[in-house]
Amino acid sequence: MKKDVALVVFSGGQDSTTCLFWAKKRFKQVVALSFTYGQKHVKEVEMAREIARKAGVEFHVMDVPFIAQLGSNALTDASVKMDEECPEGSWPNTFVPGRNLFFLSIAAVFARERGIHHLVVGVSQTDFSGYPDCRDAFVKSMNVTLNLALEEPFVIHTPLMWLDKAETWALADELGVMDLVRNETLTCYNGIPGDGCGHCPACKLRREGLEAYLDGKW
Ligand code: ZN
Repeated sequence: MKKDVALVVFSGGQDSTTCLFWAKKRFKQVVALSFTYGQKHVKEVEMAREIARKAGVEFHVMDVPFIAQLGSNALTDASVKMDEECPEGSWPNTFVPGRNLFFLSIAAVFARERGIHHLVVGVSQTDFSGYPDCRDAFVKSMNVTLNLALEEPFVIHTPLMWLDKAETWALADELGVMDLVRNETLTCYNGIPGDGCGHCPACKLRREGLEAYLDGKW
């Protein structure tokens, strides 16, 4: 069994990039795993590859197109107009049902085959839209399920779970990657790197967090 190796579920966005560098601080070796799942902005995978190269981290991509084929949402279907606000009593249509369930399941099998037991995922319960598969209860439950399903002692790490976006920026700064995260990641739902389009929900959240962090700092 390899020790001190972590597999990061890595999209090339602000959160998972911060997690990648968090993992680099804590593990001797880090492996990044990205997914192509029919997302509209597949260039995020190329940006992820470039960030992994700069970080000196082994990079893999798994192609899981069935996730987009299961249903329709604003991240995978170009004909769906993105919700800019969260609808009453529901999630915005940027929710990709089951995405983290599939990602973590696939990541665990991938890790098992390489003798890796530490999984890192950049989900946050304090995220604006409250996607159910970003919550702590889901991740803990999934951790138990994966350990039972594969009979492995996986530990799922969620360094951002209780951080808001300003605190996630603070963590990137503390890790010495503020500029890289700010300029070279892709969080925008409209596929524009860095500060993004400025008006989609992901950009708003990212910008408000950045402003709050910079205000508090200066
Ligand atoms: Zn945007």
